[in-house]
Amino acid sequence: MTDSFLDRLRALVGDAHLVTDPPAMTPYLADWRGRFTGRARAVVLPADTLEVAQVVQACAEARVPIVPQGGRTGLVLGSVPDASGAAIVLSLRRLNRIRSIDAANRTMTVEAGCILEDIQQAAMEGGMLFPLSLAAEGSCTIGGNLSTNAGGTAVLRYGNTRELCLGLEVVTAQGQVWDGLRGLRKDNTGYALRELFIGAEGTLGVITAAVLKLYPQPKAALTALVALESPRGALALLSLLQDRCGAALTGYELMSDFCLRLVATQFPDLPKPFATHYPFYALVELSSNESEDQAAELVETAVGAALDTGIALDAVLATSSGQALGLWKLREHIPLAQAAAGKNIKHDISLPVSSIPEFIERTDSALQAAFPACQVVCFGHLGDGNLHYNVAPPDGIGHDSFLSHQDAVNRIVHDSVAAMNGSISAEHGIGALKREDLVRYKPRVELDMMRAIKAALDPLGIMNPGKIL
Ligand SMILES: Cc1cc2nc3c(=O)[nH]c(=O)nc-3n(C[C@H](O)[C@H](O)[C@H](O)COP(=O)(O)OP(=O)(O)OC[C@H]3O[C@@H](n4cnc5c(N)ncnc54)[C@H](O)[C@@H]3O)c2cc1C
Repeated sequence: MTDSFLDRLRALVGDAHLVTDPPAMTPYLADWRGRFTGRARAVVLPADTLEVAQVVQACAEARVPIVPQGGRTGLVLGSVPDASGAAIVLSLRRLNRIRSIDAANRTMTVEAGCILEDIQQAAMEGGMLFPLSLAAEGSCTIGGNLSTNAGGTAVLRYGNTRELCLGLEVVTAQGQVWDGLRGLRKDNTGYALRELFIGAEGTLGVITAAVLKLYPQPKAALTALVALESPRGALALLSLLQDRCGAALTGYELMSDFCLRLVATQFPDLPKPFATHYPFYALVELSSNESEDQAAELVETAVGAALDTGIALDAVLATSSGQALGLWKLREHIPLAQAAAGKNIKHDISLPVSSIPEFIERTDSALQAAFPACQVVCFGHLGDGNLHYNVAPPDGIGHDSFLSHQDAVNRIVHDSVAAMNGSISAEHGIGALKREDLVRYKPRVELDMMRAIKAALDPLGIMNPGKIL
């Protein structure tokens, strides 16, 4: 049986780039965490912006939903299609060219399907830094990073992906190309359209290229792991480091001892920096644009002061880049260790930094009251007020059976977040996973404005339906 819609797509992108064979489609349909596998009419892999525009036009005419997809590392089911099989998956992976580097403007123009690590590498080869960094950087794409406004480990110093973007090229839901690749640091000519597409999770249009900000390569970066009594100690250390080191403080990650025990069990070859266990740890990164000596002096005096005042219980300073990498691996392997240990109930929340200790105390005790001996996997970007506050079953209870309590656990955690003026999604987005919670916690007036924007930019409702709203 012929399918004229698919024939049209095939003519646009070429037979090799239209995937309809079910086994070949499977890798594009599955969630990274293995919770769900969707269905699709086809997976389409256009080569360039023009082909993306033509595919979107064909979908608009046939009223076929589009699920834009980058590296498929998103954690909220945003880039996988639903179970209906009505949508096409639009993979941006072939749009993977670095179009240009403008050293004087300190920008680079890249296509949406570029892998984040390749962008970091290209910036480095040009003698500069693209500072976005996250554990999925070997497979996530910049189009996905922009569409989720990804955070990562350097937000404290450089901001989220939104702050790293000066311009976008977008294919609208009607299949028009908007060339907004201007690279301007100032442009007050009306509504900030770029900002709408960043963090829109593919629900308003398809990002095909972006102008990114570049920074000087630091001369040195030093890493320390500091042992702490509690999240209150972690907050005190953050404050001390900010006072003493200012913009040199580029990363500040919190990890509970339970996280490091999980990593040690699942990845026994990774370093074990301390001979004993402490309740919490902060992974600290300081950079210097002057010299390694200056960075070393900064970190030694600041951590020394934390030890002298009793804020820190112990500390390890990495003395080589290999050691620093080993300490970062501990942090980066927490999500992988959790995944290997079994499914748990995840949260990606943010709060004013000052409220984090109280949030952890309050929420830990509410969870223990409801689910005695449940285990909290608490880690995250404390410097940005962002915690990955995940809940695993008590020892001896199966991970799958504990998932039946997901709604009740989510309610405890998210009510606590809302009561303290926080956000239920700090950096992963809403996708299909947190839509109900969005409605529960976002004020009605905000939801109404979001729906009006969606209706104006995607009147046919073909862009990633069922995600966010
Ligand atoms: C181990 C691990 C660690 C992680 N750590 C972090 C972290 O520290 N910080 C963080 O923020 N996230 C983190 N993530 C989540 C994830 O890596 C980010 O959300 C990332 O930005 C997604 O990029 P992607 O290319 O994989 O996008 P995908 O998963 O393919 O897509 C994500 C969303 O963007 C949309 N989309 C993708 N490309 C486009 C495009 N070109 N145009 C329009 N819409 C598009 C999709 O439809 C979907 O809604 C982590 C994930 C893993 C697996």
